[in-house]
Amino acid sequence: MQVLIADEYGFCFGVERAVEMVEEALAEGDTVRTLGPLIHNDQEMARLATHGVATITAPVQIQRGETAVIRAHGVTPQIEADLREKASKVVDATCPFVTKVQKLAARAAAQNRHVVIVGNPEHPEMIGVFGYAPEHSFIVNNAEEVAKLPRLKNPLVVSQTTIKLKNFLDVAEAVKANADGETQIVNTICSATRDRQDAARALAGEVDAFYIIGGRHSSNSRKLVAVCLEQCAKSFLIETEDEINAEDLRGANRVGLTAGASTPNWLIENIKKRLEEIGSAMDKEMALA
Ligand code: SF4
Repeated sequence: MQVLIADEYGFCFGVERAVEMVEEALAEGDTVRTLGPLIHNDQEMARLATHGVATITAPVQIQRGETAVIRAHGVTPQIEADLREKASKVVDATCPFVTKVQKLAARAAAQNRHVVIVGNPEHPEMIGVFGYAPEHSFIVNNAEEVAKLPRLKNPLVVSQTTIKLKNFLDVAEAVKANADGETQIVNTICSATRDRQDAARALAGEVDAFYIIGGRHSSNSRKLVAVCLEQCAKSFLIETEDEINAEDLRGANRVGLTAGASTPNWLIENIKKRLEEIGSAMDKEMALA
């Protein structure tokens, strides 16, 4: 039985960078507190917890002497200021792709223009970006919501980094129709999610079973499962190697493997090793039969 890994899988650039920044702070002996879970992966959070990393929900929980970490989603300028006031050190792990959106919004607001941000208003990334232009911004989920906005002045249209391109383009068209002056459209969608889905899709038709490693509450992992199921009925979302049922692999010659953007490499390695062990046990069993 062969285990084939998708061309793109696991940690995206922003999450990998954030985890590395936390590791560096730990190596310097810091007491690390992250504002919100650093990543949506219980196993990686448990590993970090063994090094003393704890999650806080508000800047007020930071004690003097501690290091506060801003995760890849970023925060509002006010929250960042609160953290800087309370913590001895702030590690800003905002993904540079998110920083770009924040800066674009702030600049447009400084020019007294409207900003339309396409995304989920409850997502932490959106709350952070909105905070850079609170007087000038509107967050909309889709093109229909643009009709409810006032007439827009020289608007800038940007997006949450993980939304679908079609939705973004539809909103951009609706904004143009509801704007005075020039509409600036900047596609700020990050390709990490799409690249992982494309790679999974390319592999799904060639395997007999597919394992997607990721947290059950990770939306990008669940989307990967949906993509794999289109071509491979035996597609399973698992968090650890203990969830692999060897019976599901009976008769499988090729098994696919991929992982959501919050899944650490050590976990992927553990699962690959377990699949290979099951595969070689089954090969031996068949040889004896
Ligand atoms: S998905 Fe993209 S924007 Fe979000 S953290 Fe990863 S690399 Fe950055």
